[in-house]
Amino acid sequence: MSKRIYLCLAHMSGEEQKYIQEAFDTNWVVPLGPNVNGFEKDLEEFVNQIPGQAQNDDTLGKRVVALSSGTAAVHLGLLACGVGPGDEVLVQSFTFCASTHPITYLGATPVMIDSEPDTWNMDPGLLEKAIIDRIEKTGKKPKAIVPVALYGMPYKADRIMEIANKYEIPVVEDAAEGFGSKYKGQVLGTFGKFGVLSFNGNKMITTSGGGALICPDAEQWQKIMWYATQARESYPYYHHEAIGYNYRLSNVCAGIGRGQMTVINDHLAHHKHVQALYEELLADVPGIDVHSQPAGGDYDSNFWLCTITVDPSVRIVGQENAYKTIVKGAVGGAAGVIHMADSAHTDCEPNDNVEALRVFLDAAGIEARPVWKPMHKQPVYKDVPAYVNGVSEAIFKVGMCLPAGPCVSDEDVDYIVGKIKEAICLV
Ligand SMILES: *Cc1c(COP(=O)(O)O)cnc(C)c1O
Repeated sequence: MSKRIYLCLAHMSGEEQKYIQEAFDTNWVVPLGPNVNGFEKDLEEFVNQIPGQAQNDDTLGKRVVALSSGTAAVHLGLLACGVGPGDEVLVQSFTFCASTHPITYLGATPVMIDSEPDTWNMDPGLLEKAIIDRIEKTGKKPKAIVPVALYGMPYKADRIMEIANKYEIPVVEDAAEGFGSKYKGQVLGTFGKFGVLSFNGNKMITTSGGGALICPDAEQWQKIMWYATQARESYPYYHHEAIGYNYRLSNVCAGIGRGQMTVINDHLAHHKHVQALYEELLADVPGIDVHSQPAGGDYDSNFWLCTITVDPSVRIVGQENAYKTIVKGAVGGAAGVIHMADSAHTDCEPNDNVEALRVFLDAAGIEARPVWKPMHKQPVYKDVPAYVNGVSEAIFKVGMCLPAGPCVSDEDVDYIVGKIKEAICLV
């Protein structure tokens, strides 16, 4: 095997180096500067696209602050919604930990909301039930709502916004995986009060590491900018009246972002093409279902990753050996900084056939991963309130992510599907 196929590997346009060189030539090697401003302008132009209008109409009026990570964006979005010690925040349970951890940074408690089966995202019915129940139990309204565009799939934005507006609770959209996804023609991250984007190495575009917060107006933009730069006052010396953060994006990284913005539309088209190919090639494989978007035209997912479910009845080669050994590296390439597990099992894990398929594909040079483990099943959140319906836990047991990034070719998809068929002895 000559090459390895990764889930979503960064892909450079070639323009990045020009912007980075400019940063060095002009000595803007700091967390502010022309590339940061230029990148923010590119992002504003992109997110402000409104349905049925030319691309450059600024009619949504959103402003963007570029930050050092998507996690920082979640943190500052919540902070600007007034989240503080003793508060509660309603958050989608089926997600990566960066949606929920910042709630705890602020001394608040995440309240986990399960998903609906159509999009795998926040169940609006459970959301409303949780709001009513939290008010009854605590006498206080939750401070914010955080829906997540899992693997790029838009949440039921209309229903969630309707409920949020009814109870007057601000929404911080976690569109970290959903950059460029649209609901009814509108870019995700522009429905709520704030919208989170991530430019980590494996996301739709990268700045190596970075993120952004989409803000509703100039006033909020100013406030986020202030918090992101250590909350400074206008004196000749450092005088502080509030706690700030060092969260601004580096001008060097923003140079990568400007280069990446020249290919975002190509990336979007490619991810959708790869998804369509998987849907076609896996259509006749019994027991394997590709998670597709709801029909009707409201949903326009970026298909950051292709996700499948594997029916428990599917037998995979080597299944009897699943979970017999402890995995040595961490998912996400954090080997060396992770804690070593002392057992191959936890009390909530993917089925044996899913793990066997992961191992089989890995041996064939294909990176595949389980879907996110729901936050309400994480030991670190065992004591927080959760409103569950079994959907995310059930999907976690049968779900799997397949490579879909800009470096994945049609031949790669063919090869991956061939290996899946081999793993279930269909060839
Ligand atoms: C990637 C991601 C983030 C932000 O992560 P960073 O790595 O800090 O940029 C937030 N939420 C979700 C769901 C993500 O996948």
